Amino acid sequence: MTTSPVPCPTASQLLRSAGACIDPADAALLLAHALRRPRAWLYAHATDPVAGALAAEFEGLVARRAAGEPVAYLTGRRGFWTLELAVTPDTLIPRPETELLVEQVLVRIPPGGPARVADLGTGSGAIALAIACERPLARVVATDISRRALAAAAANAGTHGIGNVEFRQGDWWSPLAGERFDVVASNPPYIADDDPHLQRGDLRFEPRGALASGRDGLEAIGMIVRDAPAHLAPGGWLLLEHGHTQGEAVRALLRSAGFVAIATERDLEGRERVTAGRSPGLAEAG
Ligand code: GLN
Repeated sequence: MTTSPVPCPTASQLLRSAGACIDPADAALLLAHALRRPRAWLYAHATDPVAGALAAEFEGLVARRAAGEPVAYLTGRRGFWTLELAVTPDTLIPRPETELLVEQVLVRIPPGGPARVADLGTGSGAIALAIACERPLARVVATDISRRALAAAAANAGTHGIGNVEFRQGDWWSPLAGERFDVVASNPPYIADDDPHLQRGDLRFEPRGALASGRDGLEAIGMIVRDAPAHLAPGGWLLLEHGHTQGEAVRALLRSAGFVAIATERDLEGRERVTAGRSPGLAEAG
């Protein structure tokens, strides 16, 4: 008697059964990752059989996603701006709203000339690399307190062949002592320590030091603003991402540190998300 082998499941069968327990879009990303193919490949090959070992690998990823692990940590990748970045659990997962910060930085760096730029708390390098890539004549310094995050960021710079970023380890301004910049950007931690969101969704898996910052979430932002005037060229800009309820508090911090031209931009959901301020220039100072 012969037994016929169990047929391998097709890509679309795997997606259908995964779609019962995780978001179908996440399932497609995970299957593409397991098959080492671009996501678009799946649509043209929906009826291809998937080898048992790869199907098992996919099912393992689906189980981890169903248990809460972020897709970006499972695939080790996340798109940000024009860059596909490697992300690890040592780095915050880049978020679409942070592209608003990049946009606002770029508005303040003329494309044709040199500029000194810093990104404080760079994580995966998302902000620094996007800026460096768009402004090849700028010199960008990216800092982080986490050596492991810096290693991930430096690897991303290498992958994309971006040479105009320098990585330095240390807390906020400490690696930048005695230096001044034309533009400084940061997406610091800004969630209140007791915010219940820290216990939900992807945030449970992200580095807490990249998310939470004191009782009101404003500890890191306060430190950055306080020492910013000593690190900005006359007329230089500080741009900060913050929580959508923190716009007024961040504007007040900038005002009391002597900043001018303070303005807040809203993200795609219409929420206050990025505030910029300018260090008094020579005209104002004189
Ligand atoms: N925007 C992120 C969130 O609320 C927080 C990132 C941060 O603290 N910088 O999930």
